[in-house]
Amino acid sequence: MEKLRFGKTELAVSRIALGGIPIMRVSKAEAVKVVREAIGLGINFIDTAHVYADSEEKIGEGLRGLRREDFVISSKSPANDKKAFNEHLDLSLKRLGLDYIDIYHLHNIGSEARRDAVLAPGGAFEGLQEAVKAGKIRFPAFSSHSLPIALELMKSGLFSVVQFPFNYIDHDAEKEAIPLAKKLDLGFIAMKPMGGGLLDNAGLSFRYLLQYDSIIPDPGIEKIEELEEIAGIVEKKPPLTAKDREEIEKLRAEFGPSWCHRCDYCQPCPQGIPISAVLGARSNAKRFDPALSLSMIGPAIAKARECLDCRDCMKRCPYHLEIPKLLGESIAFWDNLHSKAG
Ligand code: SF4
Ligand code: SF4
Repeated sequence: MEKLRFGKTELAVSRIALGGIPIMRVSKAEAVKVVREAIGLGINFIDTAHVYADSEEKIGEGLRGLRREDFVISSKSPANDKKAFNEHLDLSLKRLGLDYIDIYHLHNIGSEARRDAVLAPGGAFEGLQEAVKAGKIRFPAFSSHSLPIALELMKSGLFSVVQFPFNYIDHDAEKEAIPLAKKLDLGFIAMKPMGGGLLDNAGLSFRYLLQYDSIIPDPGIEKIEELEEIAGIVEKKPPLTAKDREEIEKLRAEFGPSWCHRCDYCQPCPQGIPISAVLGARSNAKRFDPALSLSMIGPAIAKARECLDCRDCMKRCPYHLEIPKLLGESIAFWDNLHSKAG
């Protein structure tokens, strides 16, 4: 598979990365097969996170025995402070069985409060800087779903890599963030290239994404067949056709009224409802291990039942989503899923 220069990191990475969320759902043996098949297909870039349960451990097992220079590994810590960050990093290294991680993100900097916490003295960013100096991390990175925060942190000069959602529905990064990353020579990982499991046309998704030569999409993959299908599309590099563009317009109109971009501009909710987590229940259930999904989303759904229908959040949602109605739909989806499961 074609390799691209990954911005100022100067790493040579494959045209797509392997996203490490869905392998949580399969056995260790199956996950190891997916990782080895990816490497065999020329995918040398794998992205995971401290919070993805046993994903780091399975990836570490899959990479065992390979020459270190033959793969690029990226992971993330959700810590706010340096102490927790150091604990997460040490555990990531141990689970992966590595002496260093190429790219390590401050995971999901989605609010001003979290941004301020990680950048404060004694915050997680200090841990990240020290780990780079100590050789435990090669390149500092962050991920976010908030465009203003992402743009600000990209311009800060503190990071070499940014990770932001990008697919043909969630395309806010197109105008400013992707060109800015290119201008600043930052590596750009396009997260959720298939809408966090909600877009099922891999051909259309990758024909759209491959138009952008400065981004690396990281599809989450748990099956060899999916991996081969996506790698096959990427290898052929088919152009986006006029018919594709029409289809994308149609899907944008169809999904737009219910598509949550997880930007959290709708907060704060007076009832403390984590709106984006609730609206992401369907995607979460599709990608995460069922027990983890239950622990991540179950409490959010319980909170959502307390919605007062005050509609305050709707005034702040730039995508004009009918939030209380969508919360109700997520609750119904969740109840249906768990009544079937249990
Ligand atoms: S409508 Fe519901 S979710 Fe929105 S702000 Fe009011 S209580 Fe919170
Ligand atoms: S409901 Fe709207 S404002 Fe809130 S996270 Fe989703 S897209 Fe963003």
